[in-house]
Amino acid sequence: TKHFPVRGRLRDLLSRATPRVHAVDDVTLTLRRGRVTALVGESGSGKSTVARLLAQLYPRTAGTIRLHGEPVTVRGGRPFRAYARRVQMIFQDPFASLNPVHTVRYHLTRALRVHGNAGRTAADLDAALRALLERVTLTPPDRYLDKFPHELSGGQRQRVAIARALGADPEVLLADEPVSMLDVSIRLGVLNLLRDLKERLRLAVLYITHDIASARYFADETLVMYAGRLVEGGDSETVTQRPAHPYTRLLIDSAPDPDRITGAGRAAVAERGDGEPPSLLRPPPGCRFHPRCPYAMPRCGADLPPPLQVGDRPGHWAACWLHDPATRDAQAGPTALA
Ligand code: SF4
Ligand code: MG
Repeated sequence: TKHFPVRGRLRDLLSRATPRVHAVDDVTLTLRRGRVTALVGESGSGKSTVARLLAQLYPRTAGTIRLHGEPVTVRGGRPFRAYARRVQMIFQDPFASLNPVHTVRYHLTRALRVHGNAGRTAADLDAALRALLERVTLTPPDRYLDKFPHELSGGQRQRVAIARALGADPEVLLADEPVSMLDVSIRLGVLNLLRDLKERLRLAVLYITHDIASARYFADETLVMYAGRLVEGGDSETVTQRPAHPYTRLLIDSAPDPDRITGAGRAAVAERGDGEPPSLLRPPPGCRFHPRCPYAMPRCGADLPPPLQVGDRPGHWAACWLHDPATRDAQAGPTALA
């Protein structure tokens, strides 16, 4: 859980309660090695905040992070450093995350040194640098080592950012919209590289995206986030082919072509006039989707739906009252969604 206090407003001075943005509430997820988990939602749904919480870039308001079952509690000091090595983040904009005055060699050397992977001799370091560039298919390495970020294409820069993350020899990769700033034509190549690395290095990958079509293509498991909460989860094929939450359905219907990785889905959601995600300063009570939901029932505005198993599909769940057996028995119609 992450709530951000909103400061500097007159109303803070007048009332004792500081308003808080409920960016992430009660999100629980498990990343496993050798598996890509997609976290899908519109912009502002809190998905980047989840990644930053996991990367320990933000302190959390409540909750626990466990690595191999052990709670990670210390920021600074040894537990935190070990965690930072194992959990690496890749950002949306590789141009912003690479320093323009430094070469590829500098960025990768630094990552290797910080995490103790540079070896002892200059030859060790050289071999490690070449291995990193080969892992991200920037070959031959000599062509790239002494280039500056502006001398590379967007796709090459993102590969350098991935190589830098791999320099830590991580177990977990948190990838926040890693291809959404890249040309459509090269997105697939970067996603295929990440998938290949997941398999070869047995990485646990959290893939954050607003593009549910790319989740279907790339992720083993898909989680859908709306207004700071998870609303649906399951294996990607099931969630994207047989969505059980009305919001997931909306996301899929809004994506113009489910087989293309375009990123146009979010714009389409906004254009449909189906409403906007709610303000997270005062989230709606009950199900946060109820003001936009075509299936909303009276209880939806009052009671928060827990994750409910969808029909008899193990591992597929939706936080929606339509999947409460009591609701299903009382209403003959809406189960068409399942
Ligand atoms: Fe719609 Fe109710 Fe389900 Fe929320 S709980 S998605 S309002 S039917
Ligand atoms: Mg974001």
